[in-house]
Amino acid sequence: MDGIEIARQRLRSSRSPVALTGAGVSAESGVPTFRGVEGLWKTLKPEDLATPEAFDRDPALVWEWYGWRRSIIASIRPNAAHYALVELEKRNPAFALITQNVDGLHSLAGSRNVIELHGSIWRTKCLGCGGSSEDRNAPIRIIPRCALCGGVLMPDVVWFGEALPEGLLDRAFEASEGADVMIAAGTSGVVQPTASLPSIAKKAGAYLIEVNPEPTPLSGIMDARLAGKAGELLPGLL
Ligand code: NAD
Ligand code: ZN
Repeated sequence: MDGIEIARQRLRSSRSPVALTGAGVSAESGVPTFRGVEGLWKTLKPEDLATPEAFDRDPALVWEWYGWRRSIIASIRPNAAHYALVELEKRNPAFALITQNVDGLHSLAGSRNVIELHGSIWRTKCLGCGGSSEDRNAPIRIIPRCALCGGVLMPDVVWFGEALPEGLLDRAFEASEGADVMIAAGTSGVVQPTASLPSIAKKAGAYLIEVNPEPTPLSGIMDARLAGKAGELLPGLL
């Protein structure tokens, strides 16, 4: 497998690089991962809170959890990994960033072409009129209501067991098929169909670079595996 120098050269000569990011990219900013402290919230697990059934059963409880996460994320800053990807976009206007993160840190850092596959913790959607809008209140009123129709608002995120929004998924597939280099950073590569994006890129001829301290199910198809933290390795890759 290639080392960082070859990966760096491939990235330098790339015309259409794509990055796929997961919770690991925000870890150094201090955003808790679901496997960490968030999993201990009131001894409830995210899998029991981030579901349509949980919201039907007890929307106030689910909003309390989202309110708590909002308050944490509101005070958090992007890290060197986010800024390295902003730099990559400046060099390559064709760059696309596909993220599973809902924290909004890529956009806050300055990335523009961001495909937020799992939605955003800073957006709500209305159960009444279906409208989606930005709402950066932290803490947020429990339960928030739609300014247009008075309907109950829910977080505009993809929950466990839900399909990804089709339009976004199409854009992610398209970007992956058009990539000549793909960086997979901070993602465990276990959630489908997102985890299939690197193999789609590879079939279309892309060079694959993984940045993750731990090996993942995707490691086997990577051309270069950089073992370490995204905030330390991504700036060096550029
Ligand atoms: P995950 O399982 O997708 O992956 C975390 C990965 O990051 C692991 O493979 C880990 O080895 C790696 N990692 C840890 N620290 C790293 C670092 N400094 N640099 C590079 N890689 C690092 O993440 P999860 O926490 O289980 O979350 C699953 C889903 O839950 C996400 O896809 C997302 O939708 C949601 N979530 C989002 C956020 C966020 O927006 N920041 C946080 C938690 C959960
Ligand atoms: Zn409404």
